[in-house]
Amino acid sequence: MSYVFTPAPVTTVPVVGSDSLFPVHRIYCVGRNYAEHAKEMGFSGREAPFFFMKPADAVLVVNEGSTGEMPYPTLTQDLHHEIELVVALGKGGRNIKAADAFNHVYGYAVGLDMTRRDLQAEAKKQGRPWDIAKGFDFSAPITPIVPATQAGDIQNAPIWLNVNGAKRQASTVTQLIWSIAETIEVLSQAWELKAGDLIFSGTPEGVAAVSKGDVLEGGVQGLPALKVKLV
Ligand code: MN
Repeated sequence: MSYVFTPAPVTTVPVVGSDSLFPVHRIYCVGRNYAEHAKEMGFSGREAPFFFMKPADAVLVVNEGSTGEMPYPTLTQDLHHEIELVVALGKGGRNIKAADAFNHVYGYAVGLDMTRRDLQAEAKKQGRPWDIAKGFDFSAPITPIVPATQAGDIQNAPIWLNVNGAKRQASTVTQLIWSIAETIEVLSQAWELKAGDLIFSGTPEGVAAVSKGDVLEGGVQGLPALKVKLV
């Protein structure tokens, strides 16, 4: 049996300190998972976690020390940055308990959940899906993945983003409303998680618009810095 056309290549992310590649299965994203970001979006309190997805091939890999080039997307006048800790799963499962969640984590990366905020606002108003706001091409710039054993104290790590050298976002992973382990527990009740899944864990406060030519530089302590220029 043969394919009727050549299948698209598997999306991969490099692994720091290894020649092996991490094959991406799905990209899950957590909405409003830092209290101060929830407030700036007009919400307060600890709501139940909610999720959306990006297609696996929305990934834009940016190697450490280089500047990724992200095309400014069509159909928006209000492209926002959201710096996020990304959790990479090495083992899947259903109904994973929080206490067991870290046995499923392969490693961590730094990602940007780039967002067409104007289209998202319209979708919210109309009760429509977020896909066009969140799941567009190149909407998920990401660094290589650091294996969990080499990532240090990721749950307490500072997370930040500068735009053209000026501070935009600064917090710590400690501020997550739903922790990494709790997120995996709840996600795995809704979907069977698989090795290769990436979880964008949410962004702290300070999201704002960027323009063509801007340089975004962000990170999570213990992981490679992520540098992206909008072109
Ligand atoms: Mn986000």
